[in-house]
Amino acid sequence: MQQVVIIGASHGGAEAAIALRTQGWEGKILLVGDEPTLPYQRPPLSKGYFHQAVSDQQLLIKKPTLYEKAKVEVMLGESVTAIDKANKSISLASGASISFDYLIIATGARARKLSIPGSDLSCINYLRTLADADKIISQVNAQSHLLVVGAGYIGLEIAASASKLGAKVTVLESFPRVLSRVTNEQMSEFYQNLHAQHGVDIKLNSGVTEFRRSGERYVAVLPDGEELTFDSAVIGIGVIPNVELAELAGLECENGIVVDNKTITSEPGIFAIGDVSNHPNPFYQRQIRLESVPNAMEQAKVAAATICGKEKTHDAFPWFWSDQFDVKLQTAGLSQGYDSTVIRGDIAAKKFALFYLKEGKVIAVDAINSPKDFMKAKMLIPTGISIPESKLADTSSDWFE
Ligand code: FAD
Repeated sequence: MQQVVIIGASHGGAEAAIALRTQGWEGKILLVGDEPTLPYQRPPLSKGYFHQAVSDQQLLIKKPTLYEKAKVEVMLGESVTAIDKANKSISLASGASISFDYLIIATGARARKLSIPGSDLSCINYLRTLADADKIISQVNAQSHLLVVGAGYIGLEIAASASKLGAKVTVLESFPRVLSRVTNEQMSEFYQNLHAQHGVDIKLNSGVTEFRRSGERYVAVLPDGEELTFDSAVIGIGVIPNVELAELAGLECENGIVVDNKTITSEPGIFAIGDVSNHPNPFYQRQIRLESVPNAMEQAKVAAATICGKEKTHDAFPWFWSDQFDVKLQTAGLSQGYDSTVIRGDIAAKKFALFYLKEGKVIAVDAINSPKDFMKAKMLIPTGISIPESKLADTSSDWFE
């Protein structure tokens, strides 16, 4: 019987395993993951799970019985150490070798590490896995001071969640504004104000040069020499795609594993999906690597359909969300390369949409507590709509009529 092997049991891997069965794959399906738990959702780790609004059972991506029903063999706590593309087999850390007819690589990404004196102290954390989250949460309480290094989405979400738990929070960011890679100045200012309103201290143009122990607590030395005492820290300075297996196997890699619009790698029969894949985007007409759940799930469905002999291409429009305090951000599209922006709504009321335009066309939107604008933008931007800026800004009528 033919077998599909999937490496990585998370958003992409779990979705691919079930989608294979629902799309009609009759052979064997093996899902191998190096974490000890069934696939779980990562986004709540910095949000609801962190501030205890979501339980570990609610984190599961699929009900445990679904894998049995779909006859998916799940191998947990097992690391794949090599891919032999000529012999169509993988090697496991435990020594076994398993053959495949099709292989899906869904190895995701890992946290980028900080390498400075003291960065190996036990109070220095990274948030990627459930185990990471449990360790961080155990170090945060209403009496503790959490230091967050990096003001990207994950760093700011952690800051908001820790603050909800009553902890004192300081965020260090090397750029002059938060979220500088992904939003414009107005949106950065909005988030800086939001955190300031909740007592989070954000230090911009800052960073850390050294950590050291100080009795029961720890000290971070900032670039200007200031010393900051804290109890635990989380470093949120981005991720690195887990491409090593693919690279060793000789698959084409560049900022991820390079795939086509069917998620096929440079080797026919081997697919790559999710955070680890660098794929073509028809709207932006370039290769991109996304770190988002919707992308991992969509690519999983495309890989499964292709393996089942169906015609399906990956042309989904990128979208993402972030929850901080009482603010839900939903973004559609990528704003890089914009030449103008329009605000629709009321920033002070925390309900508005920021449209990014390039040569008169809307290319992305950041919607704050504005799900309707987000939904419409997600549908309409991929069609290449041009809407006058005055219409986008005018809240007395819909912009999308
Ligand atoms: P991953 O989830 O990274 O899973 C890859 C799996 O493969 C891991 O379990 C890994 O251990 C395993 N693996 C790697 N190598 C091997 C090997 N050799 N052998 C066996 N197993 C291996 N996205 C959003 O869209 N919205 C959000 O709000 C959001 N918030 C987030 C908050 C946090 C704290 C984090 C960490 C991420 C967040 N993301 C969010 C990103 C989202 O979680 C990722 O885009 C998504 O998890 C990608 O899924 P994936 O299956 O591609 O990879």
